[in-house]
Amino acid sequence: MTGAPERLRVVATARSFCAADGPHQRIVRDAGIELVLAAGDDPLDAPTLARLAADADGLILGLDRCDERVFAAAPRLRVVARYGVGTDSVDLDAARRHGVSVTNTPGANTVAVAELTLALMLALARDLPAAVAGMHGGGWQRRRGWELAGKTLGLIGLGRIGCAVAERARAFGMRVLGHDPYATAPEGVEQVELAALWARSDVISLHVGLDPSTRHLIDRDALAQCRPNAVLVNTARGGLIDEAALAEALRAGRLAGAAVDVFESEPPAQSPLLAVPNVIATPHLGATTREAAQLMGVAAATDVVAVLTGGTPRHLVTAPSEPRRSP
Ligand code: NAD
Repeated sequence: MTGAPERLRVVATARSFCAADGPHQRIVRDAGIELVLAAGDDPLDAPTLARLAADADGLILGLDRCDERVFAAAPRLRVVARYGVGTDSVDLDAARRHGVSVTNTPGANTVAVAELTLALMLALARDLPAAVAGMHGGGWQRRRGWELAGKTLGLIGLGRIGCAVAERARAFGMRVLGHDPYATAPEGVEQVELAALWARSDVISLHVGLDPSTRHLIDRDALAQCRPNAVLVNTARGGLIDEAALAEALRAGRLAGAAVDVFESEPPAQSPLLAVPNVIATPHLGATTREAAQLMGVAAATDVVAVLTGGTPRHLVTAPSEPRRSP
């Protein structure tokens, strides 16, 4: 005789998903699914996540490393929901092989990341961190800044966030170039090859996902082609930049400044960028707004419940080659 089927269990590690009860958590509980909140301070490594996932049917993940070790340790797992857009922290091939669906929350954090990008551009232009630190230290020094108006912005990636940045930058009076081999440039954005983007941009901003083809897109060669007075903003993924090459270019004055929200390794204890004075660094907070958290939470929870109850998820990144078992 077999016992009653075990209750479905979803483990959430995404910090803002766990932080407060709300519609996002209720969507899971109201479906009769147990919700385990397991957020840590930093993204979890694969062995830690594997232990948490051992008896989970679904995972709602922040930037935790989810690879073969996690899938192999979690025989019941049927869905991994990335609370965010980028899926570079999840081994999608391993998910497919193990019969696990992967979902994400595209669009939910577009405005949040686009607004942070503009904030970083403005902070670079007016050297705001130095001005604020100076005031707190009792100083009263003014550094001469520059204006976004009339400058040329080069966007790499014209997807949701790239286009939202373009729209806002145009409102600031910027000329906007874009490079995206897979998208049509929106109105007001001139699609150019990378060489032209490096050569013409006063501000370069990255909005592509990280995969083997985009890793170290900003390398020594690219940096050598940029204008010495240009600044670089990265709110996409740290691995898009060769951090050592960028640090070297900034120190040598081959680039005027950089603002980075994301790092090759997070938290970035070893990043050479943190020791460079003309770098503004933020702790991967692009999507961290109240509004984005609510949208991402509801989207992730809805898709996890859909997969576990036999429905159709709205944002499937990859479907399993063969589902583990029917719901
Ligand atoms: P998106 O899929 O809408 O846009 C990505 C765009 O990149 C697409 O248009 C695609 O055609 C283009 N692209 C792919 N390869 C390219 C290449 N080699 N050169 C130029 N363009 C290329 O995604 P999105 O919602 O705009 O998000 C973009 C990225 O931002 C995400 O992949 C994620 O890594 C990052 N992100 C960061 C944060 C944060 O907290 N800082 C939050 C959300 C997203």
